[in-house]
Amino acid sequence: MSLCHPDKGNVSCGACCGLFNLKLTTKEYKTLLLERTAEFKQTVDFEVRHSFPIYRKERETKESQISKKDDMTYNCPFLGYVDDTKQRIGCMIHPIYTGDPKSQNFSFYGTSICQAYDCKTKEGALADLWENLFVEIAKDSIEYSFLSADHIFTNAVEKFFSHQQMNTEDMFHHYRLELVALFRIRLLTSSVKNFTSFEINYDAFLSLEDVESYFNSELGSEWWDWKLEWEKKNPNRGEISGF
Ligand code: SF4
Ligand code: SF4
Repeated sequence: MSLCHPDKGNVSCGACCGLFNLKLTTKEYKTLLLERTAEFKQTVDFEVRHSFPIYRKERETKESQISKKDDMTYNCPFLGYVDDTKQRIGCMIHPIYTGDPKSQNFSFYGTSICQAYDCKTKEGALADLWENLFVEIAKDSIEYSFLSADHIFTNAVEKFFSHQQMNTEDMFHHYRLELVALFRIRLLTSSVKNFTSFEINYDAFLSLEDVESYFNSELGSEWWDWKLEWEKKNPNRGEISGF
């Protein structure tokens, strides 16, 4: 289907609905999503319009007790589990569930924003390839959301390959294991970030040095370990890139 809801696997993304703005662990994110889903099913009746704002108000009040990473970022309580097995997350008031094309107007953002928004990775030319890779890496929808929303990191990876005159599409085939390893390192610290996918990339990564400086600041010593392994497997790359 799309980066938000892949055809394959049992994962999906909900980062742009503000989930990661809440200071929680992965286990706590899942508990929160389960609570929202149960409360939504118990209290919202699609035929009773005022049940939507009542649910929203109740959840906003409850979730106001949770510390936020950024007070200016909204976390929408309509994000919950949308499948029977409680693995895929998504918009519980999406028209495909409510039958009402405007039902997302009960949310803070409203229908036009909720339906029009596409994050940078989803808009990118390599979206399908990133989707397949992230489905393979992520063990649940929380990890999948971390990966999908992290468009600056993803862009840096693309630039890392292109600055070495390597075809960025080829990296998904020839260097898949290396990519998986790099993103698994990224996931070790993703939970402290407030990934919404709205983050602005102030660095155009015009040179390989810029890319490396970014990876160093984001991953620290893990980056240098990864790069060492990379150089062992690709000894000629240093000459091309001027490492
Ligand atoms: S962050 Fe991107 S992939 Fe994730 S739900 Fe939003 S638009 Fe979809
Ligand atoms: S109403 Fe909008 S912000 Fe809220 S969960 Fe649905 S798509 Fe996300």
